[in-house]
Amino acid sequence: MNFELSPEQRDIKKAAREFAEGEFPEVAREYDRREEFPYEIWKKAADLGFIGLFIEEQYGGAGLGFLEYAMVMEEFWRVDPGCGNVLLTAFGSELIQLYGSKHQKEKYLPPIAKGQAIMGTAITEPDAGSDITAIATTALDDGDWYVVNGSKQFVTNGSIADYLAVFCVTNPDAQSRLERFGVILVETSRPGVEATKITGKMGIRASDTAEIRFNEVRVPKQNLIGEQKGKGFYQIMQLFNINRVIAAAQGVGVAQGALEKAIRHTKQRKQFGRPIASFQAIQHKIAQMATLVEAARCLYYKAAYEIDRKRTDPMLSAMAKWLAGEVAVKVTNDALQMHGGYGYIADYDVERFYRDAKIVEIYEGTKEIEKNTIARRILGKI
Ligand SMILES: Cc1cc2nc3c(=O)[nH]c(=O)nc-3n(C[C@H](O)[C@H](O)[C@H](O)COP(=O)(O)OP(=O)(O)OC[C@H]3O[C@@H](n4cnc5c(N)ncnc54)[C@H](O)[C@@H]3O)c2cc1C
Repeated sequence: MNFELSPEQRDIKKAAREFAEGEFPEVAREYDRREEFPYEIWKKAADLGFIGLFIEEQYGGAGLGFLEYAMVMEEFWRVDPGCGNVLLTAFGSELIQLYGSKHQKEKYLPPIAKGQAIMGTAITEPDAGSDITAIATTALDDGDWYVVNGSKQFVTNGSIADYLAVFCVTNPDAQSRLERFGVILVETSRPGVEATKITGKMGIRASDTAEIRFNEVRVPKQNLIGEQKGKGFYQIMQLFNINRVIAAAQGVGVAQGALEKAIRHTKQRKQFGRPIASFQAIQHKIAQMATLVEAARCLYYKAAYEIDRKRTDPMLSAMAKWLAGEVAVKVTNDALQMHGGYGYIADYDVERFYRDAKIVEIYEGTKEIEKNTIARRILGKI
């Protein structure tokens, strides 16, 4: 057993940290306030090879693993979660890489890795959140085309994406409920695609989120991901297995960033004639926060390590995501508390981190759904 990062992994982490520390702090508060996507940061991140770094080299990516991707995500979220989500401009390209045709890989992956196009994945609908099998968006056959109708909710990058991987009902008459679905690549320039940006989010406000309507959108059949219809549910589950680990890295990043702010503040702030860090109540809190962050990091490292060795374990991904979400919410809350009244003011970044952390308990499967996945594996069918 070896807990050491390779020299290459250490270099990637360091480069990601330096980039985030150099680019985010000056602008993060403004992007959050304006709820604006940081295009400049996205472009620079792409130029340096951070976007879609799991995409194979022949398709323009860095050809790295999901562990390296997760590490970069942690470093970006450590400095600012909203800006850090520029990495999610590749969200959905995992599906193309795993299941796409050669033509799809050649057409859709290089622009993502080069920062020339943005992707998103549209699964959630107004009446289908945790239960993704309840989706109503259809992609029905019409000769060489699918005709897509329906609406999707809370799509990351929805109003800025060039193409979306859309989870649709493709086989409404399939015998098995789980074989009714397909994932279809839809260019947002196609007639009938209508995106409405969602504003007023609590956190990660620099990350774009939108509602999408598909009205009679005609898409060529070659845009189906995978060779056969009816495999979409399993493809989306694998996407979740991967991206729950990436979300876990986000939780660890925001918690680590908040912890460092708490350490700095408690060493500087004096009350009762001494730094508040000298009080044991504060010291124990810091010790607990650091321990939780380290435990959550170890778990996502392990889950990502397994994915990169083609031994994806849905339970481990769910554990990593659930723990990191709880740790993110708890640690940012504790860090804010240690800032007293200052923590409650937007001038102090810990206020934003506290708001940003909560999403980790919600997207890519809520914490309750993660626990369902874990319990189902442990207990089996009851
Ligand atoms: C900022 C943001 C970005 C997002 N990005 C995307 C994206 O890019 N693509 C996309 O498709 N979706 C995206 N989502 C949607 C997200 O994945 C869903 O919000 C999430 O899966 C929960 O679905 P819901 O909101 O419909 O809640 P619901 O499913 O209605 O759940 C409500 C509550 O009930 C609980 N619950 C539901 N079922 C069970 C159960 N069986 N057992 C116990 N508790 C249960 C849930 O845990 C939750 O607490 C995003 C959401 C947000 C807020």
